[in-house]
Order: sequence, then C-alpha cells, then structure tokens
Amino acid sequence: MADCIFCMIAKGEIPSTTVYEDETFKAVFDISPANKGHLLILPKAHAANVCELPEEMAAKVLPLAAKLGEALKKALGAEGFNLVVNTGEAAGQTVMHFHMHVIPRYKGDSPMVTWKPGAYEDGEAAKVAEKIVEALRA
Ligand code: 5GP
Ligand code: ZN
Repeated sequence: MADCIFCMIAKGEIPSTTVYEDETFKAVFDISPANKGHLLILPKAHAANVCELPEEMAAKVLPLAAKLGEALKKALGAEGFNLVVNTGEAAGQTVMHFHMHVIPRYKGDSPMVTWKPGAYEDGEAAKVAEKIVEALRA
C-alpha cells in the first residue's frame, strides 16, 4: 500500500524508534505514547486489520507481544502491560494497517479500557448468542 504510513514505517522508509525486527514484523515506539516505551507491532506486509491478517502471521503476533511485554517489565520496571488491537473506526482504529499496541502499565494507572456495565433483559442473552452462533456457522 503506497500511501500507508505503517507500511512505510515497517519498511524503514520513514524513520522510527525500533526495538525489534524480524522478517515479518517490526516493533516501534508509538509517536504519542500512553506511557514511555509504548510499542506498536507492525507486520511488514500490509493487512488492514486483524481479520485480514494471514493466519501464519497472526499466530506469531501473540508470542511476540508477550516477549516484548516481558522486556518492558524488565527494562522499564513496568508492573504489567496492555495488548490492544483496535479493529474498525468504531473501535478506535485510526491507522488502517494492523497493529498491536504493547503498553507498559504501572499500579495507579487509569484503566485502559472501560465500559459502563450493562445488563440483558430476560431471554435476551440467548437470542443475542444465537445470532452470533449463526454468524459463526455461515
Ligand atoms: P489506533 O488508534 O489505530 O489503534 O492506533 C494508532 C496509533 O498509531 C496511535 O497510538 C498513534 O499515536 C500512532 N501513530 C500514528 N501515526 C504514527 C506515526 O507516524 N508513527 C508512529 N510511530 N506512530 C504513529
Ligand atoms: Zn500498510
């Protein structure tokens, strides 16, 4: 994708602070970090989102994220880390090239993902679940 900023970063056409690279991925600093050391895992081949990521690449992302998260703990004293994959504009995805955020976290940090706890009406959960099961079968 010629005009994709993360393709350019992943290929090294735009400079970025890089902490990890292999033949498939690059892990770089997010330009506007939630905490210092906030990383983005970028596949070198363009995929718009997790649904378009080839399975063999997808299978490598989580082990890499765990390795990077452990490094953030060791190097920066992070007490935990968030793995975040926003998928679709409605979910907050702003760059349409798959990326996984690896965000170092400390006790007292504000929650990364929050929601107002909702509830189902009587029988509603089963109906919603059935729709999802049908979609999975299709
Ligand atoms: P999203 O909201 O799509 O999950 O996250 C996109 C992330 O990319 C944001 O956290 C944003 O700060 C980061 N970002 C946007 N443009 C650039 C850039 O040019 N370089 C780097 N390193 N990060 C970027
Ligand atoms: Zn791209």
